[in-house]
Amino acid sequence: MALREIRKYEDEILRKKSKEVKEVDDRIRLLIDDMAETMYNADGVGLAAPQVGVLRRVIVVDAGSGLIALVNPEIVMVDGEQIGVEGCLSIPDVAGEVARPQIVTVRGLDRNGELIEITGEDLLARALSHEIDHLNGVLFIDKVIKYVNMEDEDGIKE
Ligand code: ZN
Repeated sequence: MALREIRKYEDEILRKKSKEVKEVDDRIRLLIDDMAETMYNADGVGLAAPQVGVLRRVIVVDAGSGLIALVNPEIVMVDGEQIGVEGCLSIPDVAGEVARPQIVTVRGLDRNGELIEITGEDLLARALSHEIDHLNGVLFIDKVIKYVNMEDEDGIKE
């Protein structure tokens, strides 16, 4: 495993749409492992493949209940709304309030290529929504309702 460089805001790769993964092979598993290591090293709760320069539909999330890695994730159900402060590992020192679903169900493939479904509430729902946005070239700053001073908040980084 290895740390990968986290691409920052100015990098246009963050604005591109990621491609579907055709097969979950060793290369994808290595990508997942590297992304997880990179996320934990940066003290983040989520990371999407384009943030490490790979335009493939892969995300990792750990909202406090363990690592979730999803390939080709698709939101299949949303419910409710929450407004909370979030940040992004690709946009350091910026935080803002964003509306996200309160509950999200995501379907995708796990590291073995098996179909799985994850339902998340609160922070996990926020993190899953944020990371899937990355796969479509969408950044949280596109959705900010109000910017906040990072020093006043324990904003999460994704
Ligand atoms: Zn992000």
